[in-house]
Amino acid sequence: MKENITIHGLSFRPYLSREQIAVKVAEMGRLISRDYQGKRPLFLAVLNGAFVFAADLIRACDVDCAITFIRLASYEGLNSSGTVKTVIGLQDDLQGRDVIIIEDIVDTGHTMSQFIPQLEQLGPASIAVASLLVKTEALECEVDIRYVGFEIPTKFVIGYGLDYDGLGRNIPDIYQLAD
Ligand code: 5GP
Repeated sequence: MKENITIHGLSFRPYLSREQIAVKVAEMGRLISRDYQGKRPLFLAVLNGAFVFAADLIRACDVDCAITFIRLASYEGLNSSGTVKTVIGLQDDLQGRDVIIIEDIVDTGHTMSQFIPQLEQLGPASIAVASLLVKTEALECEVDIRYVGFEIPTKFVIGYGLDYDGLGRNIPDIYQLAD
């Protein structure tokens, strides 16, 4: 893993290596495979940030499954705006499906706590959330996250799909904003 990196003039330090992430994603995949044996879950990946994690997570799952994508936005720069807007609507029929939402990171929890009730309206059999990262101390809403990768402190992170104003998604490791 490289030393500190700079994006848009801000310095980020190494935080979670690709190896650590891979071990965790494999573990999450095993848990999901165990819990959904005999079912056919529909993964719902939240764009843009979760696309890298989603690609790895579904390949770590040994169960018949489908994947679809939705785009939500609540972030501007480094801070959560608190308002969630659905940018790209969901086309799929969720009636009776076991839905697993794939999130890159849960911060205040506003995004999930507003999105899950919207999803419940569509009549799925079940809804679970898999999030690679959870900023436990930043949570302002009660969100049931069934599969948690890493609990992390309330500091801005980038890499592995996560960006800072459009940049950094291609970095294979996760970096944390340096003080
Ligand atoms: P919440 O609604 O839980 O506050 O925020 C969830 C969304 O905010 C995530 O899906 C992600 O897009 C964005 N987000 C939260 N924390 C971070 C962070 O540390 N880095 C980046 N790049 N995005 C974040």
